[in-house]
Amino acid sequence: MTSPTIGVLALQGDAREHVVALTACGAQVRLVRRPEDLQQLDGIVVPGGESTTIDKLARIFDVREPLVAALREGLPAYGSCAGMILLADRVLDGTRDQQTFGSIDITVRRNAFGRQVESFEGDVDIAGIDDGPLHAVFIRAPWVEQAGPDVAVLGQVDVPGAGPKIVAVRQGDRFVTSFHPEMTGDLRVHRYFVDLVVSAARS
Ligand code: GLN
Repeated sequence: MTSPTIGVLALQGDAREHVVALTACGAQVRLVRRPEDLQQLDGIVVPGGESTTIDKLARIFDVREPLVAALREGLPAYGSCAGMILLADRVLDGTRDQQTFGSIDITVRRNAFGRQVESFEGDVDIAGIDDGPLHAVFIRAPWVEQAGPDVAVLGQVDVPGAGPKIVAVRQGDRFVTSFHPEMTGDLRVHRYFVDLVVSAARS
């Protein structure tokens, strides 16, 4: 397979920026809003935005259940920021009725950086991504409080006053970052995910 079909969940948030980045990396991209949009995807991106809103809309549009089922069956996924929250098995500081899609054995703390500063920028080295650190933009971002034994920690940042915090992890074919690579024009994270999707489809 040379050009995988990757869906971008487009219920709310910055789906468009992911479409641009994935297309630049050679993927066929499909916006996902309805259950039928999930058919025959090779991978899916859950964008940044507001995780509580995306959660609610996913239930209203009946896309939650088929997406959770597809993730359980192994659909490769990448989530940035709110997408990290939605792909986490557990969330701290969520709203009372907030649900996630799950699929990664992590506990994330929502709006974690917000308790230090609203937004935060820093350079972060990501294991598996070459050519130097990424410039990472964090906007009301979560971080990973706890990761299960099958989760690989790919990147951490030193947060002033809070110490080193996990901001990128991978479990099998699921990959999440607290930050927004789709906002910087640096395509390395999207290329990493497109490569991951291509190798998952081959195996
Ligand atoms: N704070 C948002 C949430 O809880 C995430 C912010 C973002 O995606 N930039 O979903």
